[in-house]
Amino acid sequence: MSQPCVNIGMVGHVDHGKTTLVSALSGVWTDTHSEELKRGISIRLGYADTTFRKCPTCPEPQCYTVAKKCEHCGEKTEDMRTVSFVDSPGHETLMATMLSGAAIMDGAILVIAANEECPQPQTKEHLMALNIIGIENIVIVQNKVDLVPKEKVIEHYHQIKEFVKGTVAENAPVVPISAQQNINIDVLIDVMNEVIPTPVQKLDKPAHMLIARSFDINKPGSSIDKIAGGVIGGTLTAGSLHPGDELEIRPGRKVESENAIHWEPIFTTINMIAAGSDKVEEATPGGLLALGTGLDPSITKSDSLTGQVAGLPDTLPPTHDSFTLDLKLLERVVGISDDEPIEIGKIKTSEPLMLNVGTATTVGIVTSARENVAETKLKRPVCAEVGSMVAISRRVGSRWRLIGVGVIKA
Ligand code: GDP
Ligand code: MG
Repeated sequence: MSQPCVNIGMVGHVDHGKTTLVSALSGVWTDTHSEELKRGISIRLGYADTTFRKCPTCPEPQCYTVAKKCEHCGEKTEDMRTVSFVDSPGHETLMATMLSGAAIMDGAILVIAANEECPQPQTKEHLMALNIIGIENIVIVQNKVDLVPKEKVIEHYHQIKEFVKGTVAENAPVVPISAQQNINIDVLIDVMNEVIPTPVQKLDKPAHMLIARSFDINKPGSSIDKIAGGVIGGTLTAGSLHPGDELEIRPGRKVESENAIHWEPIFTTINMIAAGSDKVEEATPGGLLALGTGLDPSITKSDSLTGQVAGLPDTLPPTHDSFTLDLKLLERVVGISDDEPIEIGKIKTSEPLMLNVGTATTVGIVTSARENVAETKLKRPVCAEVGSMVAISRRVGSRWRLIGVGVIKA
């Protein structure tokens, strides 16, 4: 498997078939957490790599596959490119997870089940998230076409086209498929190759890795001399990393001393880099990678470094305890099932907002709000460049709802 070069997000309403589609394309079932298996839904971000391949003799689109041997003629297929899928949870309570996944998507597949009216609440909310974050390379998949007659599929197609009018997905192709029955997966690969190109790698910039997951890979009870260092997973948005490089992670570690809390950057060394199914000597931007580090695994266990940023020492953006945002708010709350529209009023002083910055999720308390500008004090600091985009959610009823975006001001 070659090194993955692009991150493709899987978004859409719960149960519409995102995880099944990732599995059809990669052979990996990304719901592995015990709670996910029990409830039958995705809770965390799921990851899977796959190589898109092409049969040298069969015509288009039959030539496109993920199999090493062509299922039509039996010939050996050729490697086109390796991609990483980021599988989002579709449940309405898990928007923060979807948004931190969206931060690392180069393009996205919006999965819409053909056996339900379109749009369902999180179909709307996820498309709105892509829209305001500015993810423009979108393929719409009309899934579960095996469950409905052809006329219904066409009617549903028109619902989709009506729904995406005026959004970033207005001109996105709609591909009817059955993820479960493996129907039209070849066409989908062809369309993904066209619509979601491999991003240009910014290799001349300092390494900037958004951490999406972190792990302790040791089995309980491992003897001390066999313990592997902490592992962090995520994507490089710029630069390159190599085994042996020194690594700084920000904001780092929370330190409490004499009633004061501050955060200290963590320093370590990269022992190993895995991308695709292989160990690599150089990690570059695009797909997902995992770094084996010299850190005590208790620092990385259970996603405790999710949302942090890693890079070479003294090259990372600043850590903010507070920042001022230039705001662009939506008019109405999306993603609520009842049809009563809720207007989004002005941001008020002392209200809490959920803020997603890169893969980080934090809560900011508004300390001052004017027309289109708000100052917030963060409960948990974030490492981000001035000018970075922030997705803003507000508590509406018992849930955080996306209400707009902000840009971090100098
Ligand atoms: P997710 O919540 O979007 O990740 O949805 P899942 O992939 O977990 O799928 C939800 C349910 O729909 C599962 O029972 C799948 O087997 C089923 N499913 C997914 N894709 C298809 C399809 O193309 N056809 C049919 N009939 N069922 C599907
Ligand atoms: Mg799922």
